[in-house]
Formats: sequence, structure tokens, C-alpha cells
Amino acid sequence: MAFKEGIDLNSIAYFNGKFMPLREASINIMTHAFQYGTGIFEGIRGYWNENEKQMYIFRMKEHYERLSQNAKLLRLELDKSADELCQITVELMQKNNPNCDMYIRPNVYKAGIIVGPSLLNTNGKNPTAFSLCTMPMGEYVDISKGLHVCVSSWTRVEDNAIPARGKIQGSYVNTAFAKTDALLNGFDDAIVLSGDGHVSEGSAMNLFMVRNGKLITTQVTDNILEGITRDTIIELAKKELSVETEIRQIDRTELYICDEVFFCGTGAQVSPVTMIDHRAVGNGKTGQISKQLQEIYFNVVKGKNTKYKKWCTGVF
Ligand code: PMP
Repeated sequence: MAFKEGIDLNSIAYFNGKFMPLREASINIMTHAFQYGTGIFEGIRGYWNENEKQMYIFRMKEHYERLSQNAKLLRLELDKSADELCQITVELMQKNNPNCDMYIRPNVYKAGIIVGPSLLNTNGKNPTAFSLCTMPMGEYVDISKGLHVCVSSWTRVEDNAIPARGKIQGSYVNTAFAKTDALLNGFDDAIVLSGDGHVSEGSAMNLFMVRNGKLITTQVTDNILEGITRDTIIELAKKELSVETEIRQIDRTELYICDEVFFCGTGAQVSPVTMIDHRAVGNGKTGQISKQLQEIYFNVVKGKNTKYKKWCTGVF
């Protein structure tokens, strides 16, 4: 079955413990998570491998493990294990039966129909719900050419305010501010700093920089989401290119003088950045290390590299 990019309301979703058409998977307007952003989510990709007629879901277990950890942060009572969530996801994908690259969106959220921001489930009045849907997705940003980005005037949410590592629904207002202003100002995307002025990450992706042949990424204590793609890149750079990644704070102005910058994330994949705040990164073209990592990454996620097939769950 061929799909068009975007959300198809006739596709099958998983909601309230059942498979049903997405158009029927609706919440009440007084739902706690809708009122207060009290939920968490994940973004997972499935890659269609045309030769094998197979859909590979990339590092699905790790996404559900992160979801389970983040559920603890918000006192969400997720009653399914990462393995059970993987099974439901595979079953949903089979039901939708796509033959193109897909995006998978699980949510765990406070489903009480109540007023008041507490996360407590007093008298069972604010239970936890789980929902899941899938949609065709190509590139999240145009990765064929380098991105021209800005350093945002919006700073990343602080760990003691809304922890960025939590992938909390409400915290994406921060992402929306940074991304929207970047687009309105003619940039492709934004880099956000933490409150103390160090580089945190992209609007919804992690950031790597190359300086003097060294690969460097920001540390988890600089208000980043602990990205699964970030972890993948660190491992691929080491094993495939013999390049170690240095994890440390990055100053804003290092971005202006370094040799290469790229974003990475489930949505962003590996996206070279060639211009920051109207300054060329390196020679203004996609750098060598970024290009190599991009190539390696795409082979791995599509299940074409047997060494990393452990990360790819076949659906069919
Ligand atoms: N940072 C933020 C704020 C994100 O939303 C994402 C996308 N999930 C990432 C980083 C990248 O994380 P991952 O590689 O796990 O998708």
C-alpha cells in the first residue's frame, strides 16, 4: 500500500488499549495533558528497505527504555514494559502495512479529566494513558544541502525548570519558540544555548562539532535530550572512522571558528550545518566527517550494514 507524506486519519492507531482508526483516537478537551502538557513522547523511525521489502525500526527498544525512564520523572504509571511496547508497535506497523519510511509517535500522558496541575493520581482521578500512531515521513529538514542556522535568543529549558532530558510535551513550547523565530528570520533551524551561555543543542536535535579533526558534542548536563542518534553517532565514529568523541561544554563562538557542525536526531538524522549566524562553517560546504557519518548512518538505519543489524527490528 503506497502512502503520501503526512498524517492519514484512516490509518490505524493504538489508543486506550485498542487498535482503532486514528480519526477515532480523540481525547477530551479537559484532559490533564492537554491542559498542562503533562505527558512525554518519543519519536522513532522505521526505514523501508526496498530490496528486502522490509521495514526496519531503528533502536526501538532504546526509545521505549527512555520513555519508561521519563515516565518515572513525571510519575506516570506506565503499565507496559519496553518489550511490550515494542510488540504493540510492530503489530501496529503490520496493520498499517506501509512500504515507505515511517515515523512512530508514542505518548504517555496524564489522562484525568480534572482541574489542577498535580501529577498525583489521587483516588484514581488522574490515570496514565498510552497512545501510539504511525505516519509516513521523509526528511524532517532538507539534508541534501547544508543548513543555515542561527543561535536562538531563546535559551533551553533548565533541568530545574522542565528537564529537557524528559522529552516532556509541554517543554516543546521552548522548541517551538526557537524554531518559529528561526524560520521567520529566514534560517533553516536554530541552535539553543543553556542559561549559562554554553551550546546546548539544536531546536529538536543534538549537535556535533569538528575542530582540528576532533569530534566534539555537548554534555548531558547542558540541558540536552540524551539522544539515541547522538549515542549512535558516537559509536559509529569510533568503530567505523576510528574517531573518538570528546564530550564537553561548547562555547557559542567555537561554532563560528570550527571546521564542521552537524545536527543529529531521529527526525534530523545527520544534517550538516554550513552557515551559523551568517558565518560560514569551515569552507561553507558539508565537511568530510559529516559526509562520511551521514553515509554510514543511512546504511545502518536501513539495515544494510550487518554489523549493526542488532539495532534494526524487522516488522514483516
Ligand atoms: N534534542 C531534542 C530536543 C529532541 O527533540 C530530539 C529528538 N527526539 C533530539 C535531541 C534527538 O534525540 P534522538 O536522537 O533520540 O531522536
